Amino acid sequence: MLGEGILKGLAETAKNFAGSFVSAERLTTVEYPEQRIAPIEATRVFPFLVYDGPEWEAGLRCVACQICEKECPPKCIYIEKSKDKKPDAVGKQQFYPAKFDIDVSVCMSCQICVEVCPFEAIKMDTEFELSTDDRFGGLLHDRKQLAKSNEYYHHIHPTEAAEVDARLAEEKAKAEAKAKAAAAAPKPAVPAAKPAAKPVEGEA
Ligand code: SF4
Ligand code: SF4
Repeated sequence: MLGEGILKGLAETAKNFAGSFVSAERLTTVEYPEQRIAPIEATRVFPFLVYDGPEWEAGLRCVACQICEKECPPKCIYIEKSKDKKPDAVGKQQFYPAKFDIDVSVCMSCQICVEVCPFEAIKMDTEFELSTDDRFGGLLHDRKQLAKSNEYYHHIHPTEAAEVDARLAEEKAKAEAKAKAAAAAPKPAVPAAKPAAKPVEGEA
């Protein structure tokens, strides 16, 4: 029936409105900030950069490929690639972001940066209390502010983080097996040097 969905929605709202006067179960709001509701696992606010190990700078998964910067619809990511390289999550030498800024005043929480990242390096945070009276500098987050540990990622998105860890471990095992096979493979024989050609009579 045309409009059935709207009627169902209105009925649900009316039920919650009337029910909230008699039943705590129907109260869908809390008295924030004194009371808080823990965010559900799928909550997404602004992106953060994941790092592995104890040291944020050395452990950043980001390899500064700049795909997220290109794909971000409002262009609120700014990256500068390093000149040197460091090992990534699977031990391969990679560039890293010498600079990685996100202007969260422009970010629209679309998660496209997360979807396009091939390195599981950027994820969506659940932190929303970011208000500041500094409209520009206060909302331009640099790589140090954006860096959060893999343990934090597990804390806010446990299911997703466990899947990512399993995938990265599998990729690392494959890369190690490939490197081992390459090292064990017989080296191609070096061809013997040809004897020098005899000079032809009459040649200078
Ligand atoms: S969530 Fe969307 S808008 Fe925000 S940084 Fe990522 S791609 Fe850009
Ligand atoms: S966050 Fe991911 S997509 Fe963005 S630059 Fe780093 S590795 Fe590339």
